[in-house]
Amino acid sequence: MQKMIQETLSQFQTHYGYPAELVIQAPGRVNLIGEHTDYNDGFVLPCAINYSTFIASKKRTDHQVNIIAVDFDGKDNFDLGKPINKSEQGWANYVRGVFKYVQELHSDFTGIDLIIHGNVPLGAGLSSSAALEVSIATTIKTLYHLPIDPKTLAKICQKAENKFVGMNCGIMDQFISTLGEKDHALLIDCRNLETQSISMPTNLSVVIINSNVKHGLVDSEYNLRRQQCEEAAQILNVPKLRDATIELLEQHKTKMSNVVYRRAKHIITENTRTLEAAKALSENNITKLGELMQAGHLSMKDDFEITAPAVDALVDIVKSVLGNKGGVRMTGGGFGGCVVALAPHDMIEPIRKVVEKEYYAQTGLRESFYICHAMNGAGKVSV
Ligand code: ADP
Ligand code: MG
Repeated sequence: MQKMIQETLSQFQTHYGYPAELVIQAPGRVNLIGEHTDYNDGFVLPCAINYSTFIASKKRTDHQVNIIAVDFDGKDNFDLGKPINKSEQGWANYVRGVFKYVQELHSDFTGIDLIIHGNVPLGAGLSSSAALEVSIATTIKTLYHLPIDPKTLAKICQKAENKFVGMNCGIMDQFISTLGEKDHALLIDCRNLETQSISMPTNLSVVIINSNVKHGLVDSEYNLRRQQCEEAAQILNVPKLRDATIELLEQHKTKMSNVVYRRAKHIITENTRTLEAAKALSENNITKLGELMQAGHLSMKDDFEITAPAVDALVDIVKSVLGNKGGVRMTGGGFGGCVVALAPHDMIEPIRKVVEKEYYAQTGLRESFYICHAMNGAGKVSV
């Protein structure tokens, strides 16, 4: 971390010729359980991780915003006095979108010079996009002392991603990047956005393994799952699947296709599992937690059908080492991406060794390994 901060500061000095006045960090995240439940008004249980986006900045007296993205070797600038439009550069739109929607609520700030530098792996499903949005919003808020509460800040960032970038994500990523707490996961009720901090056992690491499986149809499959969940809610005559029980689903089983039935079954059981996992985690009941994560994975595999053969293999390999000493499942939207494991610190190396050997042997793919712990959400970095 310290190295990243120093690099960000020295890049600022080099590019602008004067020192930065502030460094902000915002973390990536991993979801421990609660997959595809967010848009069904259900529950998710993510934690922020020790991979972050860092932003060094300084206020300007004019209305110019200057941005340098070190990791993209990219530059962008725009004028806050004019309408903020889309850029040709993909990365710049996350930044422009956040400026646009902060400005909609608070127009009383002037220009900023910025340097962006992060170590959240890009496009791996650990939400480098939310880390970028939240670090930008927190920078503007902090430099200009804007009265933006954390939930509003997360919503501004989500709006930037939905409306400006055009990615239809839920609120979870921006929320946890803003509100994460060291050594805690956050149980989020996606209906009313109420949150509960859940302490994590200190003997467990959060191990994230990227399967490096790439799937071309993620967006269309995601939209299809959303439609199927809506269809199920309609047949069950509930506003969202959050409001349905497994008994209600069974009563209506014959009124829906088998596919829609299984989609609904995943969401309804996943909500229950997420609440039970939060309880198991806070009570240090690791066996139970492991069972819930395993059941969650199988539900994604068989009922929601969003895993991939290589991801299933990776989960099985980790599970074969971990036994009932922790839990492992696919995390994120699906069709590839990462696996998350909660594992005792002394099992990390054995897991790494077996995965290194077996995953390639079984799938021909090479994994990427990230050892994490639950971290604080966005904030000022002392330099
Ligand atoms: P994920 O959020 O899973 O990492 P996304 O595709 O949602 O993947 O977001 C990745 C995109 O976010 C990058 O391609 C880039 O446009 C932007 N981004 C993330 N981190 C940075 C960064 N450090 N600097 C510039 N752009 C970034
Ligand atoms: Mg993203």
